Amino acid sequence: VTEFDGLEVGYDIPALPGMAEAEIQTPCLVLDLDALERNIQKMGDWARAHGMRHRVHGKMHKSVDVARLQERLGGACGVCCQKVSEAEAFARGGIKDVLVSNQVRDPAKIDRLARLPKLGARTLVCVDDPANVAELSEAAERHGTEIECLVEIDCGAGRCGVTTTPEVVAIARAIDAAPGLRFAGLQAYQGAMQHLDSYLDRKAKIEIAVAMVREAVEALKAEGLACDIVGGGGTGSYYFEGSSGVYNELQCGSYAFMDADYGRILDAEGNRIDRGEWENALFLLTSVMSHAKADKAICDAGLKAQSVDSGLPVVFGREDVRYVKCSDEHGVIADPEGVLKVGDKLRLVPGHCDPTCNVHDWYVGVRNGTVECLWPVSARGKAY
Ligand code: PLP
Ligand code: MN
Repeated sequence: VTEFDGLEVGYDIPALPGMAEAEIQTPCLVLDLDALERNIQKMGDWARAHGMRHRVHGKMHKSVDVARLQERLGGACGVCCQKVSEAEAFARGGIKDVLVSNQVRDPAKIDRLARLPKLGARTLVCVDDPANVAELSEAAERHGTEIECLVEIDCGAGRCGVTTTPEVVAIARAIDAAPGLRFAGLQAYQGAMQHLDSYLDRKAKIEIAVAMVREAVEALKAEGLACDIVGGGGTGSYYFEGSSGVYNELQCGSYAFMDADYGRILDAEGNRIDRGEWENALFLLTSVMSHAKADKAICDAGLKAQSVDSGLPVVFGREDVRYVKCSDEHGVIADPEGVLKVGDKLRLVPGHCDPTCNVHDWYVGVRNGTVECLWPVSARGKAY
């Protein structure tokens, strides 16, 4: 008996371990396991060499199996994710250290958050409002648990987070004084600059963030409040936070899978980051289902199989054909020389990994042309 008994390929699941890649049912997500492992190892090595912890961003993949691999191969200290229900999926899957890198204000969600430690996970959350402190404290006390809190600084993304050091200190003091809570440090992720093409443009944005964070850390220290965690950093910036001397925890997500949009940003030498720094490990596998027009192939991966918010997918490793248009259930592939035929499978590199993974149930892990594993998108649907 295996965990897949009773599940049918092409109905419940896209493939079974042991199958040839050619037999996988499309459209589905495929992971190149060799590339994935190399990416994870590489970021882990970088973090270790720079004295940084790496709390991988689990909202990118929503997979307990990938998070475990990041712990095992990449030395990850835990995960962050954006929703309480997502955090619960990771905790239930055995991840022992989970940060909700977001604000939690709804009473029912706060209650669920306060119960997370009972699943065996250290539980952390971000706070940007003194009023939230009392809400969290009350819930932790009610459940006899501890919630660790990071004060979130808006260091340029323009979303959640406070923007002044006095606000940071006031919230940290309130957390420190609240029963059931522990002040654990700062959250300062600059999300608005990660995808800027130019390395120097990204650097300039992070310098502003680092200055804000340094000022906050020093003001807190003067109050006797030490920051165990100063967290932030993504795939487009980790080397800046990692060598700032202020941050001590990275939160990279996309590096593990890569996507077409991220791949186009440039490193310090002016090279695309998907040409050397990171490998494409995530693919949307699609099949050609029609070639009734001589110069276009129609494939089975449309809008329902991916997010195109950051641009259309790119056909991996091919210059002769191009994904040019997307509708609900169809993708149009320009095939000027008529090289494709019905039944051909193509590996697409999704435009944006996170929201693409979010619309699938499974990852098909492939190595040397054979399906090695089938991993559920564990936090699928956990949007609350
Ligand atoms: N930290 C936070 C709070 C995020 O929201 C994200 C992603 O948006 C990340 C880290 C990871 O970023 P990336 O996918 O750029 O590595
Ligand atoms: Mn993203």
